[in-house]
Amino acid sequence: MITKRWSVDNSVDKEDSYSQFSQAADLLKNNEVVAFPTETVYGLGGNAENDEAVRKIFEAKGRPSDNPLIIHIADKGQLDAFVTEIPQNAQALMDRFWPGPLTLIFNLKEGVLSHYATADLSTVAVRMPDHPVALALLNKTGLPIAAPSANRSGRPSPTTADHVWEDLNGRIAGLVDGGPTGVGVESTVVDCTGDVPVILRPGGITREQLEEAVGEIRVDPALADESQAPKSPGMKYRHYAPDAPLYLVEGTKEDIQHFVEDKKKEGLSVGVLTTSENLEFYRADFIYACGQRDKLETVASSLYEALRYFNTTDADIIFCEMFPGEGVGHAIMNRLMKAAGHRVISR
Ligand code: AMP
Ligand code: MG
Repeated sequence: MITKRWSVDNSVDKEDSYSQFSQAADLLKNNEVVAFPTETVYGLGGNAENDEAVRKIFEAKGRPSDNPLIIHIADKGQLDAFVTEIPQNAQALMDRFWPGPLTLIFNLKEGVLSHYATADLSTVAVRMPDHPVALALLNKTGLPIAAPSANRSGRPSPTTADHVWEDLNGRIAGLVDGGPTGVGVESTVVDCTGDVPVILRPGGITREQLEEAVGEIRVDPALADESQAPKSPGMKYRHYAPDAPLYLVEGTKEDIQHFVEDKKKEGLSVGVLTTSENLEFYRADFIYACGQRDKLETVASSLYEALRYFNTTDADIIFCEMFPGEGVGHAIMNRLMKAAGHRVISR
């Protein structure tokens, strides 16, 4: 398959972007799959009402079929067609954070969405992305669009159109290039079907922000305890992993340098994932500074780029600093733990 690629200006009302959006929207309406930028990561969109379109998403990604997709909408009014009710908490969260990096779980109204999109669950995950390109495209189709991250399953999520191209060129009908995404980690997934909202996946909206909006918030215990089954099916899969094994180091930068030297003595090529503060400190074969430690949102926005960087090197092993688990650090540590396969070491 030839993948069409369009470069669009983020000020989407420009005349010359118009025909590109129309072409991309037409592909979606014809049940083809198209990747597009959102404020979190690039998504791979398909018509959520059509079985064929949704199957193409799973196929292009190589995604396990029991991992449901997030349905993207441009207008809150679209919800009534496929959710049974909008609980008060959900309404408050939508009013406060949509459009934005927050996905809410509702009870599913049968008969509208493809059952592949929801992996046959009785609930559905929905969000409204805060990106002019995504919103323009969603508006043009008028459809609920299922859109998981536009990477091959297991790989780091794409934060640039080139990442999408690397993973999916030839496997999808189109790619709308709207430049690098901003937040860099995926949306926060919150289950709103019970009395108290529960965070199933930490992401771009922090626990602290959610609490400020609606009071009590719980966190799925499986997030802190690997031995429990997560309530969000996707959380059980290996994710985000670079090709070389990644180790999180609990300790100082001197401890990390010590591990680096040990491995170099064994003849291995060693990578270090750090932040700009410590870039000059390390002596290793490959060093990547992922944002600034005192501005965690900069770490989030370049995290997947960092993980992909090491795949372009000959690193045999990668050591990575740890981050505080509060604020957006919750999502950063969640993704790093997955990328590391939960390997945490200390001296
Ligand atoms: P991705 O689209 O790759 O960002 O992944 C979407 C995430 O949302 C995965 O972790 C899914 O398991 C999760 N998800 C989607 N639908 C549901 C649902 N109905 N209940 C719980 N988690 C869901
Ligand atoms: Mg994903």
